[in-house]
Amino acid sequence: MSEIKSFAKTLIIWQGQAGRTGLPWQGQKDPYRVWLSEIMLQQTQVQTVCERYRIFLERYPHLASLAQASEEDVMALWAGLGYYTRARNLLRCAQQIQQKYGGEFPQDALTLATLPGIGKSTAAAIAAFCFLERTSILDANVKRLFARLYGISEPLNLTKTNQQLWGIAQRALPASKTDMPQYTQGLMDFGATVCKPSKPRCLEPSQISHCIFQTHCQAYRQGQVDVIPYKVKKLQSPIVLSEMLLCIAQGKVLLEKRLSSGIWGGLWSLPETSWQRVDQFKEGQRAKSSFEDFQHILPNQLETVFKQGQLFAPRKHLFTHRTLYFSVRVLQLKKLLPKLPTQYVWQPISGIDQLGLPTPVKQLLIDLVI
Ligand code: SF4
Repeated sequence: MSEIKSFAKTLIIWQGQAGRTGLPWQGQKDPYRVWLSEIMLQQTQVQTVCERYRIFLERYPHLASLAQASEEDVMALWAGLGYYTRARNLLRCAQQIQQKYGGEFPQDALTLATLPGIGKSTAAAIAAFCFLERTSILDANVKRLFARLYGISEPLNLTKTNQQLWGIAQRALPASKTDMPQYTQGLMDFGATVCKPSKPRCLEPSQISHCIFQTHCQAYRQGQVDVIPYKVKKLQSPIVLSEMLLCIAQGKVLLEKRLSSGIWGGLWSLPETSWQRVDQFKEGQRAKSSFEDFQHILPNQLETVFKQGQLFAPRKHLFTHRTLYFSVRVLQLKKLLPKLPTQYVWQPISGIDQLGLPTPVKQLLIDLVI
């Protein structure tokens, strides 16, 4: 397979003329800011990240301030961005850099990739932008670009295909390390705005030759743009049901701190039944629940109150690998519940929206009590 001549040079010129502008992390040399933007941009849209990046930096303007933060505060600030493991790793990584490297980021991609939450591509982005290392990023956008340019029709998740793409990406680098920031930015911009997952520029009817690589691109030449990257057929995501319990008493709501591992780990949520998987889902179906599911928090004399609790229609929440339908049972209680396990806390309704809550639970509380 022949290399595309002057790929790096062409991309750098394109970036200067047509790349994205105005993103708050662009042109950054500060590894803390580059790292933060890279982590936030994983699985979250650019528009959402722009606002949240600014807020995060106001609260934690440098690594030392983040390293001293509590997990609870970081989780609260991260709420709504999803994929909460990123937030926990962000904190662990800041603490490790503080303790092991005296608060300074390591300057090479290999060492950076040993830190919590920093994968090979993120490490390369930090090393290239901040320390001018000649090393390539290879996120989903860049994989797609190289797969199309080189007509690679095998699934991208195969180890063999991945190694092939890393090789291509490394050989495509500019000769001079001073070009690394603009080249890396060019790769990101090109994948996000030209060689997009659907409707890449070359397939837009109104655009005549608006991709700078059109004459070299194997996928384009072979009419394979629609099928590269090869899409692995997704299995239908499993459906799970749950019932949450919303106990309200004396202007407070009973919340549970979830374990730090697992879905919504470390966030505040409502007590709920276990998640019940269903094979045949019918619209409106709700989780099976009984008083026993909540007996660890509800005393026996509340069984009748529980059974008479107001039931609300199930709400839907999509995760990447499953769909949750959660219903809610509301109990208006006269007194706060006594002798609760330590992970349960009565929170005043007035400050509840400041806590780290999963987005659908927060919305539910906004709709029903706040
Ligand atoms: Fe992507 Fe199309 Fe350009 Fe090929 S020709 S690199 S598929 S935009």
